[in-house]
Amino acid sequence: MAETAALSAPSLESLGLSTNRPLVIVDVDEVLGLFMKGFGGFLATRGYDFRVDRFALFQNIYPAGAAEHLDLEAGRALFDEFFGGHCGEIEPAPGAVEALIRLSARAEILILSNAPPQAEQLRGDWLRRHGLPHPLILSTGPKGPITAALVAQTPQRTAFIDDLLPNLDSVREHSPSTATFQHVADERLRPLAPSAPQRHPRIDDWAELAAAIEAAIHR
Ligand SMILES: [Mg+2]
Repeated sequence: MAETAALSAPSLESLGLSTNRPLVIVDVDEVLGLFMKGFGGFLATRGYDFRVDRFALFQNIYPAGAAEHLDLEAGRALFDEFFGGHCGEIEPAPGAVEALIRLSARAEILILSNAPPQAEQLRGDWLRRHGLPHPLILSTGPKGPITAALVAQTPQRTAFIDDLLPNLDSVREHSPSTATFQHVADERLRPLAPSAPQRHPRIDDWAELAAAIEAAIHR
């Protein structure tokens, strides 16, 4: 698996990233952008409630007022429709844009998102519109193998930020030299999101997180 991912990872050079500065790899949904809020707003226009009362996605979609969640296949179709047409409408997470601008003064930034392929144009446009003109890779599955393949191309220190514990653990496994941080942007999700702060510092405030990333990559 790791070898397949390594072969499919683009070169940092082709992405326009220098290997003379540290590399910071950042997720989008629930890290740079308020996905749950945006997806919930989209679902409301389709007559569905998005109830953030457990750490789940499709199981949280209900026909308005219903007790039973929508079947998962219908939830998936709505998810695909959102990413194909509406993911450019989400709000940036509070403090995220300022933090990345600060980090980019002394580090290379790469956006690594597990959004589906149809999101590529909208997601790239969204980043640029919010002052984040950094290269974007859309990926699938646990992020450790592709992160390891990217990190292997630079002698510099590296950091990785995501909201999902499986991605953080995957990066720790495949790229142990990379500093990992968890950030959960949605306030409703924060108490529900599984964390392992002894492995990955959990910092939900972006100004604090930026300081911690800087401390890790400029040691
Ligand atoms: Mg995410």
